[in-house]
Amino acid sequence: TASLAEIDPAVAAALDAERDRQRDTLEMIASENFAPLSVMQAQGSVATNKYAEGYPGRRYYGGCQHVDVIESLAISRVCGLFGAAYANVQPHSGAQANAAVLFGLLQHGDTILGLDLAHGGHLTHGMRLSYSGKAFDAVAYHVDATGSVDMEEVAALARERRPKLIIAGWSAYPRQLDFAAFRAIADEIGAYLWVDMAHFAGLVAAGVHPNPVPHAHVVTSTTHKTLGGPRGGIVLTNDPDIAKKIDRAVFPGLQGGPLEHVIAAKAVSFLIAAGDDFADRQRRTLRGARIIADRLTQPDVAAEGVRVLTGGTDVHLLLVDLVASTLDGKQAEDRLHEVGITVNRNSVPNDPRPPMVTSGLRIGTPALATRGFGDEAFAVVADVIAEALRADLPVERIAELRATVAELASAHPLYENVL
Ligand code: PLP
Repeated sequence: TASLAEIDPAVAAALDAERDRQRDTLEMIASENFAPLSVMQAQGSVATNKYAEGYPGRRYYGGCQHVDVIESLAISRVCGLFGAAYANVQPHSGAQANAAVLFGLLQHGDTILGLDLAHGGHLTHGMRLSYSGKAFDAVAYHVDATGSVDMEEVAALARERRPKLIIAGWSAYPRQLDFAAFRAIADEIGAYLWVDMAHFAGLVAAGVHPNPVPHAHVVTSTTHKTLGGPRGGIVLTNDPDIAKKIDRAVFPGLQGGPLEHVIAAKAVSFLIAAGDDFADRQRRTLRGARIIADRLTQPDVAAEGVRVLTGGTDVHLLLVDLVASTLDGKQAEDRLHEVGITVNRNSVPNDPRPPMVTSGLRIGTPALATRGFGDEAFAVVADVIAEALRADLPVERIAELRATVAELASAHPLYENVL
């Protein structure tokens, strides 16, 4: 019954410090968000104690009647949210959900076609050191000179390399994909189309981004990015045969006991994602990203050498191109850190600088929108970022910008505005 602070002061202190960091700085890592207290409450619950190998109604352990209710709720809610007939809510992470697709639908050595990591793809879409690149023959498509996915290259590579599966999805891309065009290419060569909507699932749930579910054979997502739930993964499909293959691939293929406490938290987050407040949050997320992209593309505002890839954004993030700036990605990330804004550096297509340095930044608005930021506050953030990226910024301005950031943070208290 002793508290965490009494039993383990070291971990308790680090958690307190992490909470303060989240509260006192502006979180703009595009893949991060703040999970609501109700979600964290479900995750920190007694369901953490339960083994439940199998699926609701078909378990290999006794005493599963209550976790069956929880998992069934999660399944029916997520199916309703995205208009899917089948869902597996057990993957421990996005990478596990993606593994279930590849190992469930393909044989080792089969060819897959996905967006190059250096052009915005994800590790699990065929990167050499990931299971996806080791167990499969991974071919990559790219973005063209405008920064948009080159659908002609996708079609040409599909015809030439005959992949068994085509992946549409990204971790660092500021535009929407044409799911129907991807499906037409997949159908032409008899391949599966898998959409990984990890980044934009929250936008889809809110109806402010096209839904890939009607177009794809299978869709995966994380639950902790724009969707705003606990860390974890899901797989959706409308095809009963694919659903069976995915279920078998998740358990017993890749995982043992499901994390029913996380599944409880997923269920809560799906309920929240169906509400009006959530939709408003996703609209503020989109507008915030556009406001920042607009500021950074205005010649009189943007620092020298700072550009925005594709000239703007349709989603919750923008990609800053620093190829022509004397600040590299690492220096820019450090500069924003100094003023109290957390982002991550990111390679841009054909980046001349090495991967640990890069020539880009990925800036996202979901976490701030969850904190209650609206257009006015995002406009202030946009000005701070634009000024902070000046290579010749005087030292005394850094402290002033940090003070502006601190004011914004305290005007949007963490966990007061989070549903
Ligand atoms: N898919 C995409 C598109 C992602 O961006 C990510 C995470 O960055 C993942 C999958 C993997 O999710 P996780 O980190 O939960 O394994």
